[in-house]
Amino acid sequence: MSAKTHKRLCKAKSSRTGKPCKKAPINGGTVCDRHGGRAPQVKKAAENRIKEYVAQMVDPDRVLQEVARLAFSDIRQAFDEKGALKDKHDWPDELAAAVSSTKSRRVNLDAADGHTDLVTELKVWDKPKNLETLCKHLGLLTERVEVTLKDELENRIKSGRDRIARAKHGNGQPRA
Ligand SMILES: [Zn+2]
Repeated sequence: MSAKTHKRLCKAKSSRTGKPCKKAPINGGTVCDRHGGRAPQVKKAAENRIKEYVAQMVDPDRVLQEVARLAFSDIRQAFDEKGALKDKHDWPDELAAAVSSTKSRRVNLDAADGHTDLVTELKVWDKPKNLETLCKHLGLLTERVEVTLKDELENRIKSGRDRIARAKHGNGQPRA
């Protein structure tokens, strides 16, 4: 995010000049601390706005998906069939998400050949950590799936019974 294009300004106008205030509003708020941003109720409202915003932005499924990407990343995806490192832009998304940094440098690997080679180091995010996180979450997920399935099955059994009961009841009678 660029600070220049996204700069928010206080909504108040200067009482002296009548021009819009040039100060930044408090976080989550619309006014700066000189134009009411220090008032407890304004601060509280701003905090609540931030909490709501975060709750909207952070989708648990998305987080889980991201953890899964890191947990199942495969470094082989960074290389082509000949074993050469692919351009970063050609990496699959899951690999790109799993790599925390790359560092390239020119080194003379073989002193005898007299030329330098480009060596690129890839650092990946902590895989065991992500697997552990994923396992913990999967435990929760299993519980959730079981509950849903159980409800679903019970509903089906019930509607099946109802159908049978209705059919029996309707036996020999003209249809409505
Ligand atoms: Zn202001």
